[in-house]
Amino acid sequence: MRAMLFEKIGQPLRQAELVVPKPAAGQVLIRVHACGVCRTDLHVVDGELTQPKLPLIPGHEIVGTIQAKGEGAERFEIGDRVGIPWLGWSCGECSYCLWGQENLCDKARFTGYTIDGGYADYTVADQRFCFRIPDFYSDTEAAPLLCAGLIGYRSLVKAGDGKKLGIYGFGAAAHIIAQVARYQNREVYAFTRPGDKQAEQFARGLGAVWAGGSNELPPVKLDTAIIFAPVGDLVPQALRAVGKGGIVVCGGIHMSDIPSFPYSLLWEERSIGSVANLTRRDGEEFLALAPRIPVRTEVQTFSLEEANEALERLRSGKIQGAGVLVTG
Ligand SMILES: [Zn+2]
Ligand SMILES: [Zn+2]
Repeated sequence: MRAMLFEKIGQPLRQAELVVPKPAAGQVLIRVHACGVCRTDLHVVDGELTQPKLPLIPGHEIVGTIQAKGEGAERFEIGDRVGIPWLGWSCGECSYCLWGQENLCDKARFTGYTIDGGYADYTVADQRFCFRIPDFYSDTEAAPLLCAGLIGYRSLVKAGDGKKLGIYGFGAAAHIIAQVARYQNREVYAFTRPGDKQAEQFARGLGAVWAGGSNELPPVKLDTAIIFAPVGDLVPQALRAVGKGGIVVCGGIHMSDIPSFPYSLLWEERSIGSVANLTRRDGEEFLALAPRIPVRTEVQTFSLEEANEALERLRSGKIQGAGVLVTG
């Protein structure tokens, strides 16, 4: 099978021919049709996430069909279409797993990071961590739902019920979550890279009542804000934008350092939180909700061999919506 391999920080992914993996007990073999390109993949290849399996096949927004099943893998039939997210395995026994916080499991394994992912023709996955994909979506449209959608949704839930919602960084997660927020009758205030008029227009097209640079303050005090951009400076900036009792949620897995700021920005019961990974429950909830709204994803497709170019375009902010590798 074809695969794009991450071997060393600072080197482009290498195109390789590998043997198709065999599904172990409880696993399924999946023919990959599409795999989203996520900012987390950039954090992996840039070495900001420091514990990757090496060599590694990145990619954790995988849509494919089941080709073979390991021993005892009875949850799906051959030919079923499934999605594989970032959380690929958790222990099921620790206090986090037992209390509905499998996203925090110390032993958790992550697709496209500590286990091989979907920048390839085939992959194997633990059947318990696969989701059924709603028929409403094509393979490429569905791929971004699996991380940008799921972790974006978890961030939105963490942000509470506030009506005036700020979103910092209007990429893949934001373009999905803005649609959910609009469906919930919230007002979306979109913050983009200063001067990025195209991104502002994109946000307005998705129903944002206001769009501006991340260095600007919105015309009204916000109730809550989510930061998807990996930029620590945005934390005090978002605290300035929310009113008393306001919530600021950091939705990314990595962020540059947060500069110090006066306590007055946090006072009056403002709070800062973060979102880590996802639970299967987030996935079930979000994938049931998305086609009802319906959430539409805007995707830019690349061939598997173009993975390096897709990553580069994501890095430079040149992908509108989400980038997706199409494997066939
Ligand atoms: Zn656990
Ligand atoms: Zn991701």
